[in-house]
Amino acid sequence: AAELAQAREATRVLGLFAPQHLPYVADRKTDATEPTLAEMTQAAIAHLQRNGRGFVLLVEGGNIDRAHHNGNARRALEETIAFSDAVRAADEATSDDDTLILVTADHAHTMFFAGYPVRGNPILDKVRGISGEDPTDSEFAVDKLGLPYTTLGYANGPGFVAPQPGQARPDLSKVDTQDVDYLQESVVPLGGETHGGDDVGVWAKGSGADAVRGSIEQNVLYHFLVQATPALRERLCAAGTCNDDGVPVELPKPGDFKATGNAKR
Ligand SMILES: [Zn+2]
Repeated sequence: AAELAQAREATRVLGLFAPQHLPYVADRKTDATEPTLAEMTQAAIAHLQRNGRGFVLLVEGGNIDRAHHNGNARRALEETIAFSDAVRAADEATSDDDTLILVTADHAHTMFFAGYPVRGNPILDKVRGISGEDPTDSEFAVDKLGLPYTTLGYANGPGFVAPQPGQARPDLSKVDTQDVDYLQESVVPLGGETHGGDDVGVWAKGSGADAVRGSIEQNVLYHFLVQATPALRERLCAAGTCNDDGVPVELPKPGDFKATGNAKR
């Protein structure tokens, strides 16, 4: 984070804060030196605002995806909170009058959210409530085998537990399913959990957000962004990619957008 602050006046910045992926929030050491996603977002916006010509910034909470691939809902949820913090930081650093913030995902995962846990039941815990198949005196709702189950699980991934004779499912009664390393049960055993094919949400705030509604194809996101950024739209049209209505309809050729000098102009 200190190095990021030092780079404040730099013309161009490339930040590499770990030998590979940044550590999960859940594994962050108290003396960690790498910046948080929110801090990187703040730094990027402060840097880009200096050019005075507007900007497009993409911020990805990439560790959400990695934790899901590991079948590890707790780390995925904590990363989602860190991503939420980054969105808040972006909102605080910009104005709704001239900035569109779009929040979405590039795909879903196979995590499911199931059962009827009582209100206030911890999301990572076993289901408490009357949702079991049979009435029970147990603290937890139970399945047909009399075993408790978690609210969250995965359709596939490394959390699969092979059935034992007389035990089709693991007995979670004594298992701390809220532990940071607990892997939710999966239906199909895979080394890594896969992406899912669900529709994903898109949330919008600021200039141009009114256009974001209903069910849309993913390529429409590009048009939300272009229509909310007049300078970008002008530039795309100047490159001949627009139709008579001024809507970019051709794929821009990267060669037409080569930087033409110092980015600090
Ligand atoms: Zn992925």
